[in-house]
Amino acid sequence: MKAKVGEWLVSVSPADPADEIGRFALAGESEVATAVARARRAFPAWRDAGFEARARILRRFAELAREGAEELARLIAREVGKALWDARAEAALVAAKVDLTLEHGMRFVAPIEAGAGARAEHLPRGVLGVLGPFNFPAHLPNGHVVPALATGNSVVLKPSDLAPATAEWMARAWRRAGLPEGVLEIVQGRAETGRALALHPDVDGVLFTGSWGVGRALEQALLDQSGKLLALEMGGKNAIVVLADADLELAVAESALSICASTGQRCSSASRLFVARSVIAEFTERLVRVLRGVRIGPPLEAGVFMGPLVSHAAHAKLLRYRALAGEAGGERLLAVDPGRPAPFAGAGLVRFASLKQDHPYQRDEIFGPEAALYPVDDLEEAIAAVNDSDFGLVASLMTRDRARFEHCMPRVRTGLLNWNRGTIGASGRLPFGGLRRSGNDRPAGIFSTLYCTAPQARLEFAGGFDPASLPPGMPRP
Ligand code: NAD
Repeated sequence: MKAKVGEWLVSVSPADPADEIGRFALAGESEVATAVARARRAFPAWRDAGFEARARILRRFAELAREGAEELARLIAREVGKALWDARAEAALVAAKVDLTLEHGMRFVAPIEAGAGARAEHLPRGVLGVLGPFNFPAHLPNGHVVPALATGNSVVLKPSDLAPATAEWMARAWRRAGLPEGVLEIVQGRAETGRALALHPDVDGVLFTGSWGVGRALEQALLDQSGKLLALEMGGKNAIVVLADADLELAVAESALSICASTGQRCSSASRLFVARSVIAEFTERLVRVLRGVRIGPPLEAGVFMGPLVSHAAHAKLLRYRALAGEAGGERLLAVDPGRPAPFAGAGLVRFASLKQDHPYQRDEIFGPEAALYPVDDLEEAIAAVNDSDFGLVASLMTRDRARFEHCMPRVRTGLLNWNRGTIGASGRLPFGGLRRSGNDRPAGIFSTLYCTAPQARLEFAGGFDPASLPPGMPRP
């Protein structure tokens, strides 16, 4: 693929077509190759600079991210339509990721001393390609970039084509923090640019956050480069189980937040609710009331909870899936869309009478504020229903009984399992990743230092030759 000279990526706010945020030169194959070559040249000095020297620059970056958090939050809100409260929370995570990596993440890659001249050290892999999603355009690329740099790699980042300005803001902060030339390169573009970066033979690893479809395409494209690390953080079809003994107010509040935060565009958004038959009527009535009341509007307006979807394409996809709910056997209870201009969309809720989940509406990640509601008779049935998914990222159990939660722990097949908390939100001090179509067993979060490095095991011997150490039959030299 070759980008034509003069081709631009134009960033326009989804909330206001007149708000053009910037134009960014599109990188073609040759620009990607140049960026990879620069990162390769910068790598040895960055690796050899040592952890303390690198940590000083990372800390300076964190300071700048803290100072600029409000500016960054406003840019995120404009560029991807995220409501300001939500964008502020994201901006705060940027500096926090540095603190967490330096204080906790590095512990996972500490040297291993195994006694008697046996030790291991985690070495940087070299040049890592980071492919970022639009929905956390600062936090998620940063979630790979920070551990990659801390452990001594250089990075080429291809941010989402829907959030190029946010990536440029981050790159500026790194430059101001004193990151040496070439240690972090940015290439802007769409799928072709991402593919050129991932396939480049001098890229040692690809750290991808995005949809299952693209992750799968990357796995296929890299079949002949089996030595290249591929860490995939992908989608979800996350579930909340509400048992009869749950605090219903809490269950409704957590469900509404998990459906609507970031306009349903989180990998951890809830889209399947399994509710005990005895409380489903009351739960539904309350949830519908809350969802109807969610304030939707321009992301920078005070008091708005939900901004628009990120694009007209995302909006069209949501409507396409909404139209399928009936065909899937569901009864629509709610679609809060009174004459809103696209890509704004309200929450949607659909009720199913049985636990059969075989329609694409019930199985695919829709990535919008849309949830399906199913009645369940007991916990075992709920566990089976949660596990009946191609994804395995997050599940939540709402009950007053901790023993029931403990019963779920080994049985629910997800990377994250919450008790009386919704599906969104995660601790930065824990691993974050999912099973099946949600990931490929390389969880991010606090574990991301692990995949940014490769262990080198060493046997060391400082003594001289001892003939007694020779096995029988081996002549003495
Ligand atoms: P996406 O898969 O469309 O794009 C992700 C990145 O890959 C973008 O930079 C995109 O330009 C690039 N890309 C697209 N096609 C490519 C190709 N063929 N080769 C190489 N690169 C390509 O995802 P998105 O819409 O930006 O983000 C939403 C998705 O990300 C959702 O599925 C969501 O669940 C997932 N996500 C997962 C996590 C997680 O931690 N598991 C976190 C956030 C988002």
